[in-house]
Amino acid sequence: MKIIMLGAPGAGKGTQAKKIAEKYGVPHISTGDIFRANIKAGTELGMKAKGYMDQGLLVPDEVTIGMLLDRIHQDDCEKGYVLDGFPRTIPQAESLTKALAEMGEAIDFAIDVDVPDENIISRMSGRRACLKCGATYHTQFAPPAKEGVCDVCGSELVLRDDDKPETVKNRLKVYHEQTQPLIDYYKEKGVLHTVDGTQTMEAVFQSITEILGA
Ligand code: ADP
Ligand code: AMP
Repeated sequence: MKIIMLGAPGAGKGTQAKKIAEKYGVPHISTGDIFRANIKAGTELGMKAKGYMDQGLLVPDEVTIGMLLDRIHQDDCEKGYVLDGFPRTIPQAESLTKALAEMGEAIDFAIDVDVPDENIISRMSGRRACLKCGATYHTQFAPPAKEGVCDVCGSELVLRDDDKPETVKNRLKVYHEQTQPLIDYYKEKGVLHTVDGTQTMEAVFQSITEILGA
């Protein structure tokens, strides 16, 4: 089962991708998480990505595509995966389609988590992230048991630099210009499904499981 999550930054892609991964037993692959892990570890890839991420811009396709294709060729991806944050440009989608076609495969579901821009800024300013294990919380909608502390690993929770309102505005602009066209790309391939992302997290997940099947 190969799934792509589409939607604006903060729409809830990561939240839902984690639940899908758990229920269907496939890896959750977030390009944003991979970049953040590389930044934390001080790798060359992380240094390349950081400047773009801090400004709310996309990391160039030359860096991102190879990294993602390497990841989906690993053994744990044999039964499928849920991609969160990739593809974000038409060239990324085309590279993925081509790489899969070479193996006689294709994406099964592209799920667009639809949330209007008005809701995004408040979603993002309340998001708290654990940079150690990747868990995500929301001060209002999904608070941790103890304020500022990750339930999973006990590390400190932070407001990501790129979740500050001025950067979120840039990210939304980039989303509309470069990523939203992917909705039509996957519609034409007959695999697009749209869910109303303004519902509660549980209701969004229920809509997704109805699409994916038990
Ligand atoms: P994305 O991966 O699309 O950037 P996230 O899954 O990290 O988005 O969600 C962004 C923020 O909104 C997080 O703080 C998350 O806890 C919260 N969130 C996710 N889904 C919902 C929802 N359905 N209702 C309210 N808040 C949500
Ligand atoms: P995310 O965690 O998905 O919100 O991504 C955080 C940031 O990482 C984005 O704003 C981009 O700068 C970068 N990024 C993540 N995925 C991609 C991608 N597929 N292409 C380009 N940049 C990406």
